[in-house]
Amino acid sequence: MEHVFSNMHDITELFGSNVFSEKLMKERLPKETYRSLKETIESGAPLKAATANVVANAMKDWAIEHGATHYTHWFQPLTNMTAEKHDAFISPTDDGGVIMEFSGKQLIQGEPDASSFPSGGLRATFEARGYTAWDCTSPAFLKNDGTGSVTLCIPTVFCSYHGEALDKKTPLLRSMRAVSTHALRVIKALGNTASRSVTSTVGPEQEYFLIDKSYYRERLDLIMCGRTLFGSPSPKGQELEDQYFGSIKDRVAAFMKELDIELWRMGVSAKTEHNEVAPGQFEIAPIFATTNIATDHNQLVMETLQKVALRHDFVCLLHEKPYAGINGSGKHNNWSLSTDDGINLLEPGQTPHENQQFLAFCAAVIQAVDTHADILRATTASSGNDHRLGANEAPPAIISIFLGEILTDVFTKISRGEKVIAGGNVFVAVGVDTLPPLPKDNSDRNRTSPFAFTGNKFEFRMVGSSASVAGPNVVLNTIVAESLDALAGRLEKAKDVGTEIAAYVKDVMAKHGRIIFNGNNYSEAWVSEATKRGLPNVRNAVDALKAFISPKSEALFEKYSILTKAELHSRYEIYTEQYAKHINIEAQTAVHMARRLYIPAAIGYVSILKASLDDLKTAAAGETLASLGISIDGAFAAVKKIEDAVKTAKQQSDTVAQASFFRDTMMPLLAELRLHVDALECIMPKDVWPVPYYSEMLFDL
Ligand code: ADP
Ligand code: MG
Repeated sequence: MEHVFSNMHDITELFGSNVFSEKLMKERLPKETYRSLKETIESGAPLKAATANVVANAMKDWAIEHGATHYTHWFQPLTNMTAEKHDAFISPTDDGGVIMEFSGKQLIQGEPDASSFPSGGLRATFEARGYTAWDCTSPAFLKNDGTGSVTLCIPTVFCSYHGEALDKKTPLLRSMRAVSTHALRVIKALGNTASRSVTSTVGPEQEYFLIDKSYYRERLDLIMCGRTLFGSPSPKGQELEDQYFGSIKDRVAAFMKELDIELWRMGVSAKTEHNEVAPGQFEIAPIFATTNIATDHNQLVMETLQKVALRHDFVCLLHEKPYAGINGSGKHNNWSLSTDDGINLLEPGQTPHENQQFLAFCAAVIQAVDTHADILRATTASSGNDHRLGANEAPPAIISIFLGEILTDVFTKISRGEKVIAGGNVFVAVGVDTLPPLPKDNSDRNRTSPFAFTGNKFEFRMVGSSASVAGPNVVLNTIVAESLDALAGRLEKAKDVGTEIAAYVKDVMAKHGRIIFNGNNYSEAWVSEATKRGLPNVRNAVDALKAFISPKSEALFEKYSILTKAELHSRYEIYTEQYAKHINIEAQTAVHMARRLYIPAAIGYVSILKASLDDLKTAAAGETLASLGISIDGAFAAVKKIEDAVKTAKQQSDTVAQASFFRDTMMPLLAELRLHVDALECIMPKDVWPVPYYSEMLFDL
């Protein structure tokens, strides 16, 4: 990839060079076309056919100049991945040749044969057609694959013949509109007439693991399931805390450098990269963007991580828990609301207690999160994330909000009608004149909270590393839209806005103050305290997903036209089924590895030991032999139970029963098998052990 690095001298030039940006459109489109397209982007007005044709042609010319031969409608079905089907630009001519063609119709609408995407009953197979439609608020871009072919990618939504959303993007766009509408009403009521629109902004921090490709290839569990199903702990784990923010090794640095370049080209503002807590674990964070673009970009980040890793003989693991006993990976979804003229509505400023706008929006978030903690929790539910949430690591499955002492004090005092004294204690100066004063909360941030206020945004930390961020943000936008809707109603009628905001804060604190918790979320004490407060604690995905189809959830999503009841139920069905399918694959992989690798290796070692026992009669050989016997039999018995359970699972009456069976019966059996296999690993010699160790996979990078 030499040509990549030769471009390094001018990153500003490189950045976004693969994006058909607004700047390019302005340059390349006739004035009238540009104006018409811009109107569509800003107001959602339908795109005129004539405009689409001109835009398509300009896009094609630009793409071809950059080496593109194909285009694709790039969409986000109800998996956590993106989908694309490439079409060449070629079109036949009368004389048997071809010309390169791309029409307005091809730009704005596609009809992939989509019968194999999950639809959760929304689409009967006899009308399997799905339609893709251009989301012109997210720019088209070029994707280079390692071999030099270039494809024009058009971000699209994906829906059924009857217009039901079959993807994650459609509800996301709907939710952005809802939160925008009601946030605008609130700021208008507060006297802001200058701002014309509000958008939700998102910055997802992405955690991942790297493993050397040669080890990965030897691990069927990683290949099939994305996580290790077996493996005894490495003698050293993360206890020395020497990996977090540690200096980045050359080989990893080279990978990150190429990753940045690939992302920058596509306009993804990859900004921060560092070593994470666990060995072999890293993080990448972009600069935040408008929610739908941030979502597109996070998908590109996940895809590019995996692609570039392979070029460096690594494999990138996005699973929430690739290794037992050390931290798993999540995604910190930083979220805020911003006006078109750049006002962050969650910015507390120096005197938050006097900042009506901040108080209003922050209280609205508190109300929203407490009212719909269950739905927010549901957006993070997956079999992979079950290994994190409520298991042995952060964050817990209980949703609470960290506000920090100072803001909690401000809200509490206002709600009691007490005076808040503006003082030097709200923000601490760092004592160096050239540094800005730091918000006090930022310096001793609570890292254990699942939903933390971090300066001028909320950070939702429960999202799984492999998940699309669309779902969590659909819910965040929608639930906040609901509280803003109610608040706007109050403010629009109020005689005095200031008094009304104080009254609103008081109401929110009385009814929803229970969601605020600034202490240690990992402690046992918090679990019992949360129960006392009546906060839900749903520790597994199968139960958590049920929140999607509660009457409260149906009413919410229908009211704001985000998802119909049918669309909501389809998602519940699909995610529950995915949970069952993933564990089914894990069960089959475990059986495969035990029967073909571990048990034969152990039996082979028994005969070696036996021979040596006959000659030497050592105690070590005798004892090892006895332990081997126990573990081999234990493993064998567990394998047979898993095989039976795989059959029983198939006979369950419906998806939910099946998922529950996998949770209650299969997961414990997998743990049982692992116990025996890991015991074998600890007593067998390296040269006859059939797979790489944790110590190798984690540390040999
Ligand atoms: P940390 O690791 O300390 O949580 P980082 O700086 O690594 O913080 O990541 C913070 C993320 O939050 C970045 O992606 C950043 O762009 C994003 N962010 C900052 N401001 C906003 C905002 N107003 N809205 C959404 N995301 C934001
Ligand atoms: Mg963070």
